[in-house]
Amino acid sequence: MAKYVCYICGHEGNNITHNYDHRVPLSKGGADDFRNISDACDKCNEQKGNRTVQEYRKWLNDNPEKIKENCYPDGDRSHFAKGGTWY
Ligand SMILES: [Zn+2]
Repeated sequence: MAKYVCYICGHEGNNITHNYDHRVPLSKGGADDFRNISDACDKCNEQKGNRTVQEYRKWLNDNPEKIKENCYPDGDRSHFAKGGTWY
C-alpha cells in the first residue's frame, strides 16, 4: 500500500486518498512535471482547485473556517495557510 504525506495538511494517507497537486495549475502556466507536482490528499487537491500555492494560502487565511472543512481527521491546513513548513 503506497503511503504519502500531503504537503498541504500533513495527512499520511494510502493510495486510496492519494492525489497529485500541481502547485501552479496547468491552466496558469504550470509545468506538468515533477518539479511542479506534489503529493496531496484528493480533498486538499480538490479544495485548492485552480489556485496557485500563494493564492490558496491567502484564501485559507481569509476563510479560516475552511481550514478543517473536508480535511482528513489528522489533517491541519493551518500551518500551510500561515506559510509554515510544508510537509
Ligand atoms: Zn491534505
